[in-house]
Amino acid sequence: MITQMYINGEWVHSQSGQTRDIINPYNQEVIAVVEEGSKTDAEIAIAAARKAFDKGEWSHTSATERGYILFQVAEKIKQYKDELAELETLNTGKTLTESEADMDDIAAVFQYFAGLADKDGGHVIESPIPDSSSRIVREPVGVCGQITPWNYPLLQAAWKLAPALAAGNTVVLKPSEITPLTTIKMADIFDEVGIPPGVVNVVLGPGESVGAKLAESLDVDLISFTGGGTTGRKIMQAAAINFKKTSLELGGKNPNIIFADADLDVAIDYAMNAAFFHAGQVCSAGSRLIVHESIHDQFVALLIEKAKHVTLGNGFDEKTEMGPVISKEHMEKIENYIALGVKEGATIAVGGKRSPLPKLANGNFIEPTIFTNCDTSMRIVQEEVFGPVVTVETFSTEEEAILLANDSVYGLAGAVWTQDLHLAERVVKKLRMGTTWINDFHPYIPQAPWGGYKQSGIGRELGSIGLEEYTETKHIYQNSNPKPLGWFK
Ligand code: NAD
Repeated sequence: MITQMYINGEWVHSQSGQTRDIINPYNQEVIAVVEEGSKTDAEIAIAAARKAFDKGEWSHTSATERGYILFQVAEKIKQYKDELAELETLNTGKTLTESEADMDDIAAVFQYFAGLADKDGGHVIESPIPDSSSRIVREPVGVCGQITPWNYPLLQAAWKLAPALAAGNTVVLKPSEITPLTTIKMADIFDEVGIPPGVVNVVLGPGESVGAKLAESLDVDLISFTGGGTTGRKIMQAAAINFKKTSLELGGKNPNIIFADADLDVAIDYAMNAAFFHAGQVCSAGSRLIVHESIHDQFVALLIEKAKHVTLGNGFDEKTEMGPVISKEHMEKIENYIALGVKEGATIAVGGKRSPLPKLANGNFIEPTIFTNCDTSMRIVQEEVFGPVVTVETFSTEEEAILLANDSVYGLAGAVWTQDLHLAERVVKKLRMGTTWINDFHPYIPQAPWGGYKQSGIGRELGSIGLEEYTETKHIYQNSNPKPLGWFK
């Protein structure tokens, strides 16, 4: 397993010689010891990316050529799928099935941007001035700093790397310091397909030093960040130094609205998945159920029954439905939220504590937890817990459901369950969220943009707009019959 940083086309040690233990959240075992980068390493990586952009060929290669390289990356992801999925499960605790699905998604993301790379080279516009022509062209932004979180380590890296490279930028990417393993392997894949030195650089280490350097550096032209709002705020402030293009993919507290006429079996099945998939550590987790009062008791009773029978365990065990949360610290944060919910007057209908199973004692296992008797004044309803915890509120009218769903500082995603598609259409149009689902929860596709309203972020990833975010727009005006103006005699 490679454990070094990838800078300027070479595998390098950190300047300080420091290392970091990478922990398996299932049993706290050290699974790798990786280089621990610092500001100095970030500076070296930025300089390599700067040189590759300013003096190298990458931004001038044809978009078709860049697309071809990205197609090769997609093929390599498929080739190394098993190894990558196993690494992701080892490092994050998520089930192997989830990791395998992530790898399929990652290959699809590279394929999508590979194909899109040469599809929008610009267009001619009508010039109102005689004897002239006007063209709009899209050009790469320059050096892109990219910072990713621990919940979808390689998927989030792919969402950023694929469009940045398709557009002709050079990149310095910093994965979460606690889940760097698949991103390191991804750098190896770029090396294998022959990406020129300095075009992709992976620098490891803490956010406060390495990540902050990417955000504040005058040599970085764009910063793309996925993570929590507190960090997002710091990044935006730091990025103001040279007015970097800034893209922030932040948290969510995503409502899942169940109307009385919904197909209950299906809605409950999806509500479970929305809340507890990857132990709820998903930015778009359906952590806020808003259920019509007439079906509340039946819905909650069935949900509790299902939640009681979720199989917790090792992500590598086929029977496991839910793995551990990422770290001891994160488990404690979730426990504090559960205690807060109780203090605020919500009722724990099921779960609410660490798994009592002795065989899971070394892992970070929290039982699937359902809070009832909730209202929007509670922090447990308003704040992102990022764990297997879902709150339940009730509503009586369509207007009330919309009001409740929008009563949030977040606006990432939300779902509506009903058999009345006119009703569904009315409701989703009023939801202040970047993604809305009707009779579904969680799907995203590389062809459609992803991102948040309000405090869920700025900008969009994926889709054609995701490629645009990594471009500057240039107007080229040509005078086909230049004559002296005669203004200054
Ligand atoms: P985090 O903000 O703690 O860390 C994210 C990254 O930022 C890490 O790489 C970290 O090292 C780095 N970082 C930390 N401090 C920094 C600083 N001062 N300057 C620069 N970089 C810094 O987030 P996390 O705990 O890793 O991830 C969980 C959060 O990510 C949740 O809020 C979740 O909703 C969000 N998320 C959002 C999306 C989305 O698409 N909107 C997707 C996945 C995760």
